[in-house]
Order: sequence, then structure tokens, then C-alpha cells
Amino acid sequence: MTATATSAAPTPSNQTFIDLEHEVAAHNYSPLPVVVGEAEGIWVTDVEGNRYLDALSGYSALNFGHRHPDLVAAAKAQLDRSTLTSRAFHNDQLGPFCRDLADLVGKETILPMNTGAEAVETALKIARKWGYMVKGVAAGQAKIIVMAGNFHGRTTTIVSFSDDDEAREHYGPYTPGFQTVPYGDLAAVEAAVDDDTVAVLVEPIQGEQGVQIPKEGFLPGLRELCTQRNVLMIADEIQSGLGRTGTTLACAYEEVEADLYTLGKALGGGIVPVSAVAADRAVMDVITPGTHGSTFGGNPLAAAVGHAVVKMLATGEYQAHATELEAVFREQLEALIGHGVEAVRVRGLWAGVDIDPELMTGKAVCKALAKKGVLAKDTHGSTIRLAPPLVITAEELAIITDTLAEVIADARDES
Ligand code: PLP
Repeated sequence: MTATATSAAPTPSNQTFIDLEHEVAAHNYSPLPVVVGEAEGIWVTDVEGNRYLDALSGYSALNFGHRHPDLVAAAKAQLDRSTLTSRAFHNDQLGPFCRDLADLVGKETILPMNTGAEAVETALKIARKWGYMVKGVAAGQAKIIVMAGNFHGRTTTIVSFSDDDEAREHYGPYTPGFQTVPYGDLAAVEAAVDDDTVAVLVEPIQGEQGVQIPKEGFLPGLRELCTQRNVLMIADEIQSGLGRTGTTLACAYEEVEADLYTLGKALGGGIVPVSAVAADRAVMDVITPGTHGSTFGGNPLAAAVGHAVVKMLATGEYQAHATELEAVFREQLEALIGHGVEAVRVRGLWAGVDIDPELMTGKAVCKALAKKGVLAKDTHGSTIRLAPPLVITAEELAIITDTLAEVIADARDES
């Protein structure tokens, strides 16, 4: 038998996939020109073999890094058992997952959904229903107070109370029943609360707004106000929660306990979409069979992966690591202030960095970072957000901040 020479097919370039996507996928994003082929831990590799440090972590959906072995093992094991039952039947994964997630966040019950926006929608529905059935608000009058600069997802109701024109324009008519107050302004919330107010919806830290951290005392003050006025406090912890800020929930930093938590992103371990609302029975029990649901919510594959995430967080080691690295991260970033950086905000392994707008836009910074092997995302204007996986080391963290320093120094040299 003679050996035949095989000529390997040429590997498609990054551009091949970018062009194809542009042609056939909706243009609802404007991604950086990086085509991820493989990923592991904090690293991703594009289809041409270039390696990047992922300092975005899928907007905190990859808190444990890409393909964490425990999470992949949980998913693989469940793939061999059952994947979807629908809630028409029980499955053996949902109960244990809900029990341990409820324990982790200090609530009695969990309502499982899939995406973050669905969890927020669910919390809004629960709050309205609680308002009518428990608080005694007149039919159709329930009011929910939301914060300026919020980001809670992309559904029609959620964009109805967004103040981001791009997210909102041409999607009306808008859902009524929401009143916006300035973020972090307790007096404004107090003035807005009336007898029809059923809830206040707040991100403990506004991620999409550039990791905006409210003044100390705002969240405890809000908690107290909500208790006094019989209003539910809904904390959207979809981006801030599950270890990112050094505590399991960002609210815990000021020892605040919300009435409802919305959770998502990292709950799915970067493998499957898993979201949830956590609340005590007295609130959750307004939901009865037939009044809310989701075909995929609580499916056994999602529950198995979510359960593995909960078990990892229950050890406290990821939260402790984020707390430990916070000081290093802050020190490295603060060293750039006055050298092309105007301000930084850091909590745990989450940072908002305001670049001098005269120097570069956030998008330009992220493009330049990507060319040097670091992936990050701009938020608004000249602000970028850094949210590396919580498995990063101090040495690897320095790669991000050193590369950022280089990018800024290059721009200053050019200007
Ligand atoms: N809430 C917050 C605070 C978020 O940051 C996000 C997404 O970025 C969402 C809700 C929406 O989550 P999803 O994109 O999974 O619908």
C-alpha cells in the first residue's frame, strides 16, 4: 500500500468567520474582531492560534473561567442522564439545586428561569402580584421605582424603563408603572415612594454604567426605607453577584438583605443559561401553578450545572480570592490615574476605568488591548470595564494592567 500525501485544508482565518457572521447574523452587536475558537481558564485562543487573556468573562458569566473542570464534569455527567423534562414533570436535579442556592443567598425559595432578563421580568411580576394580593394596591396601580442608568436586560418591559436611548428607541409603546430616580439618591427614592409603590429595583453596583458603586449607606438606607414603607427591595445581582465583588452577593458588602434577588450569568457556569429569583415564601407564594413559567427554566442540565456552581461558591474560596486581589487590582489601576486615566472604581475583581476622553474612546482602548492580547469591553464613552475570571492570579492580573498602561502610553505618545 502506498502512502498518499494529504494536503491539509487551509485553516479559515478570523476574517472568514467575521465576514460570514456579518452576512448571515443580525447586526445587534459590534464585536471586536476576535474569533474565539477555544478557551480554557482565563485564556481564549482565536482560530488563527492567537491567545488572549479574557478580562471580560462574558460580562461575569464566566466567573470561574472558561470550561472549569468541575462544571464541565457536572454538565457531562448530566448529559448522560437527562437534559430536559419541562416542568410538566419533576426532575431529580431541581430540588437539590434550589435548596442549596436558597441556602447560599439566605432565602427560602428559588424560581428558576434561563436568562437574566427573564429573572428580572419574573421579579417584577412577583412584586406587582404581591402588591395587589398582599399589600392591597388597587388593580392596575402598582408602581415600581427604578434607578437612572439602570441595565436589567432587553425585553420590552425592561427597556421601557431604561434611559439609554439606543436600547429604548422605536420599541414603544412602553410598559407603564415605573418611576426613575437618580442612582444612589436615597432622598429621591423616599420622595418617589407612595402608597402604590410595590418595589424598588436596584443594581447594588451598576455594571453596564461603568461599575458605578453607590455611596456607602445608600443600600442600607434603601433597605430601611423599603421596610418602613412596606415596599419590596429587589436587588439585581445578575452581574454583581456570585463572587464577583468578593462576597457572594454585592449587597452583603454593606450587610444588606434584599427581599428578592435576581441571579443569572455565572449561575450557568459559562456553560448553559441559568437564572433565578430568590425570595422568601411570603413573597414567592403569590406565584401559583399556571401563573408563571418557562419551558427550559429548571431543566435538569441547567440545574446540575447551577448546583455545581453553588457548591463551588459555598466553599467561599472564590469570594476570598476576589477580596484578596482587590487591593492589588486597585493599586495597579490607581497608578494610572493622572497618566491617561481619570478615575477607577474597584470592588473585588470588578473595575470601571475612566480613560481621559481627550485621549481615547473606550472602544479604541479595547481594540488596542485586543491587539496586545487582552480582551475587555467598553461601557459608555471612555469608560472600560474589567472583570477577569475569579480564578486569575495576581501575576496574571498584572498582565491586564500592564497592557492597559502600554495602550495608554502608546496613545499619549501619538497625541
Ligand atoms: N441585569 C443585569 C444587572 C445585567 O448586567 C444583565 C446583563 O448584562 C441583565 C440583567 C440581563 O441579563 P441577560 O443578558 O442574561 O438577559
